[in-house]
Amino acid sequence: MATRAQLYQRYILIGMVLAILVGGTVGLSFHEKDAKEQAEVRLLGVNLEGLGSGFVAVLKFIVLPLVITSMVVGVTSLGSTAGLGRLGAKTVAYYFLTTAIAVSLGLVVVNIINPGKFITREERKVYPSKGTEDIVKTFLPWNVIQQTKGSSRVNILAVIIDSILTGWVLLMLGKRSRWVIRIFQVCNKFILKITALLMLLAPLGIFGIVASKVGEKGLEAITELAPYFFTVLAGLALHAFIVLPLILKYLGRREVLPYARDVAPALSMAFATASSSATLPVTMECVEENAKVDKKTANFVLPLGATVNMDGTALYEAVAVMTIAQSLGMDITLAEQITIFLTATLAAVGAAGIPEAGLVTMVIVLRAVDIPPVYIGTIFAIDWFLDRFRTTVNVWGDTVGAAVIARMTRKSGPPASAPAQQDA
Ligand code: ASP
Repeated sequence: MATRAQLYQRYILIGMVLAILVGGTVGLSFHEKDAKEQAEVRLLGVNLEGLGSGFVAVLKFIVLPLVITSMVVGVTSLGSTAGLGRLGAKTVAYYFLTTAIAVSLGLVVVNIINPGKFITREERKVYPSKGTEDIVKTFLPWNVIQQTKGSSRVNILAVIIDSILTGWVLLMLGKRSRWVIRIFQVCNKFILKITALLMLLAPLGIFGIVASKVGEKGLEAITELAPYFFTVLAGLALHAFIVLPLILKYLGRREVLPYARDVAPALSMAFATASSSATLPVTMECVEENAKVDKKTANFVLPLGATVNMDGTALYEAVAVMTIAQSLGMDITLAEQITIFLTATLAAVGAAGIPEAGLVTMVIVLRAVDIPPVYIGTIFAIDWFLDRFRTTVNVWGDTVGAAVIARMTRKSGPPASAPAQQDA
């Protein structure tokens, strides 16, 4: 007999995968109808776009308190400032290593396939570039509220840094700060509980997002960009199915398939929302509750990873810039490829965990090899779709990172041989 927790987990996983498949089919059928109906995809009187965006809005609402409480609880549970230093160093090393591997893979596949050669110049659409000023601000995240062109939004990286500092100071205060830490712990439990309840509605939300997006955009723009599309997918697949599983198995000492099943709801959520940040509550729930990774480590590694660790985005930026260069008939030297390698790694760190953030920070990579940012338009048409795949790889990289770093700090859950979850 399956326990309640197991039934819950199965429902979420099956529900989410079905939501993506059915949502995609419904969306395609709507897309084929005339333009008027495409503007608003409705099913049984329900506006599917509203259903999806409403769900994401609720998720975003809990991200901020979740990040703050998880980071403070994570840092203070390390016991000492030296413990924080050790965990921080391991985490950053993991992020850089995996991102560098991802970018290298991207460069290898793009050099083999040469997707830019298939793109004709006449049909290239021009996309206005965003100012580099925004990107500089992303790298200097000292203002929690960020002003971007008249609108203000919360800068999650600044929130993370502030939360780490708060935890660090509480650690330094020692016994006197115990009650403050206790309050953070209770708030954290409360938000995780809300997340678990919210997940019951996730399949509905995902269905709404996928159906309305596919209904609006369709998939026909893929034709000319197909070689580019498949080059990015090939790189992402190599990273997701070979590199990360090997790291998980040999450094994290986890069985790959059970672990992947445990975190699958987070992966489907990443695919549906194209946002690592909006997915964060689900990622934490899956890694801590399903895969039983040590909470102290996961509380630190996952919120940071959702904004900083983006293997999929880094790989995609390298492939995209190379494709644009190839389509312009440019000769890319080895030195330029090294520049792309370095800047794509940085640009991915700078990208926020929100839809199509990678498209904006790609300006850094383009500028580094002297390509005018307007040429981002070359690959713009299918970016909304590719974004889903790279976000899924970003989140998969974060979950693998949590297991690996937990293992390296010797606080991981079940040993390698034990099933990661009871319902094997
Ligand atoms: N959407 C991605 C994420 O949230 C970032 C990107 O645009 O590549 O992880």
